[in-house]
Amino acid sequence: MSTRWLGAFALMLSMVMLSGNKSTAADARQPNILFIFTDDLACQAISAYGEKRHLLSTPNLDRLARDGARFDRCLVTNSICGPSRATILTGKYSHRNGFYNNTNSRFDGTQQTFPKLMQAAGYSTAMIGKWHLISDPTGFDHWHILPGQGLYYNPPMIRNGEKVKHEGYATDIITDLSIDWLKNRDSSKPFVLMSQHKAPHREWAPALRDLGWDHDRQYPEPETLFDDFAGRSKAVSDHDMGIATTFTDLDVKLTPTSNMTAEQLKVWNAYYEPRNEAYRKANLSGKDLVRWRYNRYMHDYLACVKAVDENVGRLLAFLDQEGLAENTLVVFSSDQGFYLGEHGWFDKRWIFEESLRTPLLMRWPAVIKPGSTSNQIVSLVDFAETFLDMAGRPIPADMQGHSLLPLMKGETPADWRKSLYYHYYEYPTPHHVRPHYGVVTDRFKLVHYYKPDVDDWELLDREKDPLEVKNFYNDPAYAQTVKELHAELNRLRSEVQETGDPPRAAHGDRPFDTKG
Ligand code: CA
Repeated sequence: MSTRWLGAFALMLSMVMLSGNKSTAADARQPNILFIFTDDLACQAISAYGEKRHLLSTPNLDRLARDGARFDRCLVTNSICGPSRATILTGKYSHRNGFYNNTNSRFDGTQQTFPKLMQAAGYSTAMIGKWHLISDPTGFDHWHILPGQGLYYNPPMIRNGEKVKHEGYATDIITDLSIDWLKNRDSSKPFVLMSQHKAPHREWAPALRDLGWDHDRQYPEPETLFDDFAGRSKAVSDHDMGIATTFTDLDVKLTPTSNMTAEQLKVWNAYYEPRNEAYRKANLSGKDLVRWRYNRYMHDYLACVKAVDENVGRLLAFLDQEGLAENTLVVFSSDQGFYLGEHGWFDKRWIFEESLRTPLLMRWPAVIKPGSTSNQIVSLVDFAETFLDMAGRPIPADMQGHSLLPLMKGETPADWRKSLYYHYYEYPTPHHVRPHYGVVTDRFKLVHYYKPDVDDWELLDREKDPLEVKNFYNDPAYAQTVKELHAELNRLRSEVQETGDPPRAAHGDRPFDTKG
């Protein structure tokens, strides 16, 4: 071989090596994403959100808000578990990703998702905890999920297709598995880890260590605990999600949660049984019964959130120990909000604030100024776009949200959305909430309850009526607002390519637990 060829070969080789090195170095500098997700977590239960009832202190979530950003108006597009998860993965509304409800939808895992795109871009991807999309996860190097809704105690799980058993409390186990994966990951690559809790989903079973954590506190009641729904659509009053009407013995722990060991059950009963005995003797009815149930509900629900908060603390401590905190975006959110007695309800589904709004905290020291807050309308439909954008990847044109990266940097684009489209579908079971769609702005909501036995419009004005107990739709003073919101609703329906009612039961017929 001539010197000239040898020289050319050496140059080529060094270029290959250089580009190899460069690509590895660039990959290692890419930001990591730790996505901590909860199920049915109300902003009202997070002290960083500062609700005046002050139900619970959440020091670790508050730390995320203090060191990062708190989004005050992160809204969902369809307030129920599976659909929110599908929207996060795809960056698309339910009618575009095919997952409408928890009763008969099945996620089409062959479609485009952000984990697949991140994986193709060189990220390690893992999904640990509650998945709830019926089909197996796709786009993950590793997955270890609860089947269906999962159990709070000793939950069976599925690891990359194989059934495994665990002993302990689900929230702790999901965190343990998340930390194990982080320890053993391929550290030459950046990562996306989705660490997703069952908690604080119904039936709100606390960790044994937290039984009695509140010292039998009597909780401040929401102003609308005894809402009479006067002047409201039949769609709103004719529900099956009331603390008064719908709570079961399991919900209020008059019967114990399932799948505990004999030892666990003993500890459980030592707390609940004497209190249940006193309850039975008191023979409560009417408002007293609702109040008892509300207090029991708060003890259990908030204990579940307390354990989530502690486990977030464990993950944050691990990032600190490993020197990963600076270059990792930590996202904390929930698949929707929840009613903690407002309107007399538990559960979610409605376009009203407590279930429409979901927590969103983000920490990324390299980019987000500590203590930032934003009251812009953001949504779960923006998450996929955000993660791709921060990794420097193109955002596919068929995704329907917008990257939050500018907002994370403290810059609000002049054309940031001023309204959001919403559509809920699941009916009649489990909670008899009629399908409805609408437009949400900073101040107003225009809602249409359209079937099967209603055709009602409501206009809500959060400025005049923050508790959302009045319908202003037929008030002449709002005629112009109603007209403008109808036009905006039509514009949004066209923008998101919503062309009518969804097909019913058109996405698989698999019966499934429906307490999404
Ligand atoms: Ca949920």
